[in-house]
Amino acid sequence: MATGTANATYQMYIGGEWRGASGGAVRPVLNPANGELFAEVPEGTREDARAALEAAKAAQPAWAALPGVERARYLRQTAALIRENAERLARLVVQEQGKPLHEARGELGGTSEFFEYFATFGRAAIGEIIASDNQDEDIWIRNVPYGVVVAIIPWNYPAALFSRKVAPALMAGNTIVIKPHEDTPLSAIELTKLVEAAGVPPGVVNVVTGAGTIVGDALVRDEITQLVTVTGSVRAGRQILAAAAHNITVVSLELGGKAPFIVMDDANMELAVRNAITARFMNCGQVCTCNERTYVQRHIYDEFLERYVAMASRLRMGDPMQAGIDLGPKVNQVELEKIERMVGRAQEQGAQVVLGGHRPDGEQFRKGFWYEPTVLTNVRNDMDIMQQEIFGPITPIMPFDDFDEAIALANDSKYGLSAYLFTNDLKRMMRAVQDVRFGEVYINKIGPEQLQGFHTGYGLSGQGGDDGTHGLSHYYRKKTVYVSYNDTPASNLMPYPAA
Ligand code: NAD
Repeated sequence: MATGTANATYQMYIGGEWRGASGGAVRPVLNPANGELFAEVPEGTREDARAALEAAKAAQPAWAALPGVERARYLRQTAALIRENAERLARLVVQEQGKPLHEARGELGGTSEFFEYFATFGRAAIGEIIASDNQDEDIWIRNVPYGVVVAIIPWNYPAALFSRKVAPALMAGNTIVIKPHEDTPLSAIELTKLVEAAGVPPGVVNVVTGAGTIVGDALVRDEITQLVTVTGSVRAGRQILAAAAHNITVVSLELGGKAPFIVMDDANMELAVRNAITARFMNCGQVCTCNERTYVQRHIYDEFLERYVAMASRLRMGDPMQAGIDLGPKVNQVELEKIERMVGRAQEQGAQVVLGGHRPDGEQFRKGFWYEPTVLTNVRNDMDIMQQEIFGPITPIMPFDDFDEAIALANDSKYGLSAYLFTNDLKRMMRAVQDVRFGEVYINKIGPEQLQGFHTGYGLSGQGGDDGTHGLSHYYRKKTVYVSYNDTPASNLMPYPAA
């Protein structure tokens, strides 16, 4: 039960107007560090979703008609405003999501960079010309915007994921309706205020808040929507794919992950341990690229485990707004209870808790959604903890004997987003690149992924992808144009020549 009072009431942005929900209802926003209510947002309805789509549709032709350099100018201006407001927005991310302030500052850096990066495509090629079979003809393949894009985003990076979707969609000449997560709607709303301040015309960017199964579903099902881009859970991804099937709407899905973190016995131990720790505990373990299962070659397993546990036990958990904090709370009560159940289930299946395994003691952790850094050993790959996404500060660690076994363990998963390998052996690196079935492979390093890369998952991790030129290409569809400048009638025209 939430305590406190909402000291800020936010509105949705539809067609250039700030307004409440058509039904008048509001939804509370809680601070996960103390569970207290501190803001309210409109509880959007299906009608609000429709209004936002209509506004986006009305604005799209004029937006697409602007030269690329003009659209890029708006993106650069938005980036500049995000940089100016970065500290304020970083604190808002901490307040609504719970990550440590230094991580939120990093997120805001990325948030402006997405706009900056996609603005560089203002003068990029927007198609190709292919040789025709006939004389004096060309075949053009043109990139054309979809029209109205719907973007649905989760709570773990409420600012960066806004711009990861909005910037390329706008650069490609689309307009957009964005639906932030129920728990973290404020970053998207504040960023939209900056988009507005940058002079982006009304209707080009719209924000609707509310429930995924109501507002999100209405946005996905509507015939105005031409492309849906989602970052979220597998469960939501499945529901969205099914809803989009009716209109055969194109869907790009960035879903969960279960990244294997493989450490070979020739790896730099210090580098491997520190990277494994960061890749697990950043954002309280709530990143789709997190180290979800650590595999360590048997000769070095004991030493690795000892160092890993020692380092994990030194992580500082506490008020994420304070300096020097490594770990904040989980984002909400449901997530907290989910990971508690997962640890309990792992123990039932034979896992041993060697660190943590419960909520922390102490007055400052009495309220809010806290869980201690936790390490589990004695795990097998068929256990739920090794197969299901944890998305929390829990590391299951297990030994393996040789490289082939490590690759087989890594691939024994329904997910296929990120994979990590620590080794100094070039052949093993190359073999891993060839043999692991993941869309993103990190060798002797961890993320974050870079703007010019391509963030894409296999299997349950999704379809499509974000970032870089490949990510941008998802915001275009193709139009093929056959052009003749030959005055001689083609030989296949009627009436056919007599035999
Ligand atoms: P979630 O699926 O609960 O919510 C994501 C969004 O989908 C929210 O805005 C929600 O309102 C909306 N939604 C839910 N059901 C819907 C429906 N039926 N129709 C339309 N919209 C609907 O996910 P979450 O808990 O916010 O995020 C955590 C998940 O996101 C994790 O699984 C994580 O791995 C994944 N994630 C993936 C990436 C990636 O790039 N692959 C990045 C970050 C997070």
